[in-house]
Amino acid sequence: MFVERSSRIPGFYKLPMEERLRIVAEWAGLTPEEVELLKKFGGLDPKIADAMIENVIGAMPYPFAVATNFRINGRDYLVPMVIEESSVVAAASNAAKMLREGDGIIARCERQYMIGQIHLMKVDAPRYKAMKILEHKNEIIDLANQQDPTLVKLGGGARDVEVRVIETRRGPAIVVHLIVDVLDAMGANAVNTMAEAVAPLLEKITGGEARLKIISNYAIYRLVRVWARASPEAVGGRDVAEKIVDASALAEADPFRAVTHNKGILNGVIAVALATAQDHRAIEAGAHAYAARDGTYKPLSTWDIDREGYLVGTLEMPIQVGVVGGAVKVHPIARIALKILGVKTARELAEVMGAVGLAQNLAALRALVTEGIQRGHMRLHAKNLAIMAGATGELIDIVAEQMIREGRIRFDYAKELVEKYRRELGQQS
Ligand code: NAD
Repeated sequence: MFVERSSRIPGFYKLPMEERLRIVAEWAGLTPEEVELLKKFGGLDPKIADAMIENVIGAMPYPFAVATNFRINGRDYLVPMVIEESSVVAAASNAAKMLREGDGIIARCERQYMIGQIHLMKVDAPRYKAMKILEHKNEIIDLANQQDPTLVKLGGGARDVEVRVIETRRGPAIVVHLIVDVLDAMGANAVNTMAEAVAPLLEKITGGEARLKIISNYAIYRLVRVWARASPEAVGGRDVAEKIVDASALAEADPFRAVTHNKGILNGVIAVALATAQDHRAIEAGAHAYAARDGTYKPLSTWDIDREGYLVGTLEMPIQVGVVGGAVKVHPIARIALKILGVKTARELAEVMGAVGLAQNLAALRALVTEGIQRGHMRLHAKNLAIMAGATGELIDIVAEQMIREGRIRFDYAKELVEKYRRELGQQS
C-alpha cells in the first residue's frame, strides 16, 4: 500500500544531526555510501556547520582553486576561487596575464558605507515630517551608534541620515536612510541592529508606523572602480581588440547581452566571494540593481581602444564584503583563503574582487570573439566525462584528448574509450 510521506517533521531542527540524516536517508532511500558521502565535512568542523545554518545533515564540498598571474595596484596576488563551473579559473588566470603590465590592474574602493532603511507609513504631512526627521539627525545618529560601541571605537558607525517621500499603492511613505560606515564588516547585522533601534524614535518624531527596518543591498556608497590596459599583442592583435570593443558596445545596446556580460563578471567576483565565505546574494543583488540604475540594464564594464592602440577596460560596481563578522571568521577554509590572498581589509578584498571581475570579463569576451566559448569549456568537459566514465590517472587525459581530436565529446564515447584502453592495458574495468 502506498503511504504518502509528509514533509511535516515537528522538531526536526532540534534533533541531533545524525538523526536528521537518518530521517532524510530513509525518506530518499539513500544508500549507506551516499550517507557516508554527506557526512564528509572536509575542512569544516561538523559542529561549526551545525551552528552556521539550520537543519544541517551534511556538507557539500566544492573545488577550491587559485588563480595565478594577478597583479593589482602594483602587488601580486594568488586569488582563491571556489566555483563549480569549469574554465572560470583558467580564464581569470589567463586574462590576469594580459593585464599585468606596469602596476597591473588598478582597483579603488574607498568608502565602506552601507544604507540602513526604515520605511514609515501612516504618516500625516509626510514631507513636513521628513524634514522633522532631519531636525533630529544628531539624536538619531547617536542612538544608532550606541548600538555598536565596537564599530564606533574602531572609527566607524552611523554618519548621516537621508530622507525621501515615496508614493506607494498603500499611501505615502517616508524612507529614511541611515548611512553607516561599516569599516571591515559586510555590515548587515550591524546596520540592521541600528535600523531597528532608531525606528521607535522615528515613529515618535513622525507619528507614523515603522514597517521595514533593514539594510539595503543597493550599496551605492560602496563602489569599486577598476581599470586596466592590455597591449594589442597580449590579447591576440588589433583585430581581436576591435572585436572585444564591439562586444562591449553590443552589451551596452542590448540588455539581453548585458545580463550575460555581467554574469561573466560575477563568475569571477562570486568565486572569490565563495572562497572567502561572503554573502554572495548581497553582492549579486547589488550588482544587478547598479547595472539597471539608469532604468535600463547595462553592462558593469566597458572596453575601448586608446590612442596607443591598447585595449582599455573599466568596471564599476558595488561590492559589499567583510573580513570580520558573518561566516568569514567562522569558516576555517575562508580564513585560509584570506591568508592566501593576504588581504586585511574589506576594502582591499573588494578591490581584488573587482579586479578579478574585470579580468574574467576580458577572458570571456576574448574567447567569445575568437574561438567561441565552447572550445575551452569542452576540454574540461571532456575530462569530466572521462572521469565520469571511470577513467583514472593518465587515462583521463588520454580519453579526453581523443574525444577532442575526433570531435566526439560524449559520455557514451568516453565509456567506450575507457573500456577499450582498460582492455588494452589489461586492467580490470
Ligand atoms: P557581524 O555582526 O557578525 O560583524 C560586524 C561587527 O563586528 C560590527 O558590528 C562590529 O561590532 C564588529 N567589528 C569588529 N571589528 C570590526 C572591524 N574592523 N570593522 C567592522 N566591524 C568590526 O556581521 P555583519 O558584517 O554586520 O553582517 C554580515 C552578516 O549579515 C552576513 O552573514 C550576512 O549574510 C548577514 N545578513 C545579510 C542581510 C542582507 O544582506 N540583506 C540581512 C541579514 C543578515
